[in-house]
Amino acid sequence: MSERPYVIDQMISAKSIAARIEDLSSEIQTEYAGTDKLIVVGLLRGSFVFIADLVRELDLPVEVDFLEASSYGNSMESSREVRIFKDLRGEIEGRDVLVVEDIVDTGHTLTHVLHLLKARNPAKIKTIALLDKPSRREADIAADWIGFAIPDEFVVGYGIDYAQRNRNLPFIGKVRFVEES
Ligand code: 5GP
Ligand code: MG
Ligand code: MG
Repeated sequence: MSERPYVIDQMISAKSIAARIEDLSSEIQTEYAGTDKLIVVGLLRGSFVFIADLVRELDLPVEVDFLEASSYGNSMESSREVRIFKDLRGEIEGRDVLVVEDIVDTGHTLTHVLHLLKARNPAKIKTIALLDKPSRREADIAADWIGFAIPDEFVVGYGIDYAQRNRNLPFIGKVRFVEES
């Protein structure tokens, strides 16, 4: 838990998120029209709210699975290691895989996860991220679909945490530390 007092300033409203997901889901719907082998893979834990809203907008046969990966080590280093804490439950060989991420920041997590999943021979693999921080990129990677590009701010809400809290906020907000008075 954080000891430092902070407030959360809203950055993207629940309404804007819902509208953006409607647009994204119609693009995804077009991309996967006619397939019966789509499997949507959420990267835990930050994507759990996004994936729930996204799949409910898809009028397609769809399976859902989850993977938990975490980058760790010295955050000041440009090449961090990524560890898998929870692997997929099912096989993805020959499937159309859509990886759902909360935020692409340096890009190391998504790069590593894609490398891992591609080795399992899916028919097709694509990526969607709710948020993108292009100014922070270190790995040469871009998601196929992006909800919102944002500046280099620490954000929370809509599944995304600060010290495991704030995932339940319905909007995306930025954390602002305040001085104790
Ligand atoms: P990357 O490997 O792209 O640097 O890391 C991406 C992951 O870092 C995201 O999936 C997310 O878990 C975490 N992350 C990046 N930016 C933020 C942020 O602003 N807030 C929170 N809570 N996590 C972030
Ligand atoms: Mg994440
Ligand atoms: Mg996190």
